[in-house]
Amino acid sequence: MSKLWSSMAKRAEPYIPGEQINKENIIKLNTNENPYPPSPKVIEAIAAEVGDQLRLYPSPTMDGLRASIAEYNNVSQQNVFVGNGSDEILAFSFMAFFEPGKPILFPDITYSFYPVYAKVFDIPYETIPLRENFTMETEAFFGSQGGVIFPNPNAPTSLYLGLQDIEAILQHNQDQVVIVDEAYIDFATESAVSLTKKHDNLLVIQTMSKSRALAGLRVGFAIGNEQLIEALIRMKDSFNSYPVDRLALAGAKAAMEDVTYFQEMTSKIITTRERTIKSLSALGFHVLPSATNFVFASHDTLSAKVLYGHLRQQDILVRYFGTPPIDNYVRISIGTDEEMDEFLNEIKSVLAK
Ligand code: PMP
Repeated sequence: MSKLWSSMAKRAEPYIPGEQINKENIIKLNTNENPYPPSPKVIEAIAAEVGDQLRLYPSPTMDGLRASIAEYNNVSQQNVFVGNGSDEILAFSFMAFFEPGKPILFPDITYSFYPVYAKVFDIPYETIPLRENFTMETEAFFGSQGGVIFPNPNAPTSLYLGLQDIEAILQHNQDQVVIVDEAYIDFATESAVSLTKKHDNLLVIQTMSKSRALAGLRVGFAIGNEQLIEALIRMKDSFNSYPVDRLALAGAKAAMEDVTYFQEMTSKIITTRERTIKSLSALGFHVLPSATNFVFASHDTLSAKVLYGHLRQQDILVRYFGTPPIDNYVRISIGTDEEMDEFLNEIKSVLAK
């Protein structure tokens, strides 16, 4: 801390992401990345963009990518915003829709970046306790003063909230923006994007980092009423006109358009997830019914902390949060079948000790 810092810099409490260890042969199940490569068409599109045109700034309006996202989601381009990862869009959203002095609501167990944005943008917040089984009590989100934000499916619980509940939250917050962070929605059933046509206070945020295997490219997008998108554009253009570079624009567009590859990889991960849940349950784990590319699990006799430490020693990384009431849970990203087999074998050997 220095006297030269602004009050904003002083009050910031930065987010700490999962470890990124630079080591070969590690089984990395700790940051919900996709275990499969991006579509070959993404690599081709990026390669084609590498050349003389890198002299030139990328498109500030990102029309090509926005059109592809709009087409896939059956909305118009004016309903689409693109940012440098969905984290950046979340930051713009806090600036665009939430107000100092008006508390926003989010679940007490959720994506831990929300309180970070709230602190830095000076937005007061109230956390809504999840039920004991980690489901969201919809009514508790009614009538917020400043807005609502939650992931669906929630992280790290992996639980999905149905569209009827989301619609009820929207109807009971008509003068506030409700942000549904759908980072993991492609591993669930139905997106809330269709509700953006009926509800002008709904902003849905998605990412290319998980289901489209592009965490390294940093592309996220938001879908909502034109006026919400306009507010996000105002924030972007007051900050950086070109937050998404040419390579990312080209790669993300190709990813959005290769629907066949996307569906194949997503369903492969879902199949591995279900198999992993079965195997973990057979080993005595309580596993929440996941609608994501990770599972959230606890065991009565094997402590999560011990398990995390043991796996780490064997070069298998999972995420352990260590704060009650989730301090006996580990979050395990779904890897390839081979990686999950190694992970399960390691657990069997710990349990046999
Ligand atoms: N929302 C949630 C719930 C997440 O778990 C993540 C990934 N850490 C993000 C948003 C951000 O994803 P990205 O910035 O890679 O798009």
